[in-house]
Amino acid sequence: MSIRRPLIAGNWKMNGLKAEARILAEALASRVNAIGSTPFDLLVCPPFPVLSTVVGAVAGTGIGVGGQDCHAKVSGAHTGDVSAAMLVDQGCQFVILGHSERRADHHESDDVVQAKVAAALAAGLVAVVCVGETEAQRDAGETLAVVSSQLAGSLPSGADPRQLVIAYEPVWAIGTGRTPTIEDVAQVHAAIRWDLSRLLGAEAAAGVRVLYGGSVKPDNAQALMALDDVDGALVGGASLKADDFWAIAMACPAP
Ligand code: PEP
Repeated sequence: MSIRRPLIAGNWKMNGLKAEARILAEALASRVNAIGSTPFDLLVCPPFPVLSTVVGAVAGTGIGVGGQDCHAKVSGAHTGDVSAAMLVDQGCQFVILGHSERRADHHESDDVVQAKVAAALAAGLVAVVCVGETEAQRDAGETLAVVSSQLAGSLPSGADPRQLVIAYEPVWAIGTGRTPTIEDVAQVHAAIRWDLSRLLGAEAAAGVRVLYGGSVKPDNAQALMALDDVDGALVGGASLKADDFWAIAMACPAP
C-alpha cells in the first residue's frame, strides 16, 4: 500500500454535453457527500466547455477539477487554445498534460509538454504529466527507457514537486481493455519513482503521486491500487459512469 494519499482522476476526453456533465458530476458529488470524507482524492477532467458546469456541481465536496490540456503561453494569437490561467479562472486546480492522445494527435514532443507543464505550474495548477510506451516500444523491450526519457524530457527543471502528479499510461492499454501484468506495472512504477528521486531529490520525490492509467475498471482496480508504488489511477472510459468510477476509487486500500 502506498504511503501517499491515493488520487483517482477521471479523464472524460471529448465526451459530455452540459446536461450529461452535470448529471455525472452531481452523481459523484452525492456519493462523496453521503460518506462525508473519503480516504482518496477524486479529480474529474471534463472538456473545456463544461468546466464551469462541473465546477459548480462539485462545489464544496473536495472533488478536484482539471483541464485536459493548456497552452504554454500566457495569452496571444493561438486560435483554439486555452491558457493555464483560463483553467484557474474556471475553477480548475489540475491539468492533464502530455496525454498520449495529444502526443499523437497534436504531435506534442517532450519539449512542448515541458513548456506546458512550466506554464501550468506558474499559474498555480497541479500538472498530471502522462508518460507511457507504445506497443512497438514495449515489444522491443524499450518500456523503461522510453518512460524514463519522457519523464526527464517533460518535467521542467526546478519544478515544485507539490504541483506534480505523474501518470504512467502504456499507450497500448488505453481504451483497449488490455493491461500490463501486475508485475510489469510494479516494475515501471518502481523505475519512475527511482527517476523522480534522481530528477527532484529523494525527499521531494517521495511526495509525488504516480498514477497508473490504461483500461482501469472496477474489476482490476483493487489489484493495481494495492501496489506500493501505485498512488491512484487515471481513468478514461470507466470515469464516464459514476458507479464504475466510484467503484474504482473505493478499491483503494484503506489508509
Ligand atoms: C486515458 O485516456 O487516460 C485512459 C486511461 O483511458 P482508458 O481508461 O479508457 O483506458
